[in-house]
Amino acid sequence: MPWRKSEAWPNGSTNRWRKVRAAWLTEHPQCETCGAQATVVDHKDGCDYTTQRYDRAYLRSMCEPCHRERTAAQALDAMSRKRQASSVIIEVDERRPDERGSRDW
Ligand SMILES: [Zn+2]
Repeated sequence: MPWRKSEAWPNGSTNRWRKVRAAWLTEHPQCETCGAQATVVDHKDGCDYTTQRYDRAYLRSMCEPCHRERTAAQALDAMSRKRQASSVIIEVDERRPDERGSRDW
């Protein structure tokens, strides 16, 4: 199943998010799950993406392996909820948009 990121997150990546994300990783360089170096800033469960996307109370650092596990779990969870949530919101690494291309996790 391809990630439909543009639909899940209509505004896509923004400069504001890049700044928030970079600052967060500087202050919280370790994965909250396993302690490895974090490269992903994840939003905690219950985060309202329209109003709390930049709220530090809902951010957490993760490494890529842990983040993949989490998003996979979210996908399963979403399916189990009979599609109440029609899409899974995924925040991928946004360091270099030009390198992302069609990279598909
Ligand atoms: Zn980890």
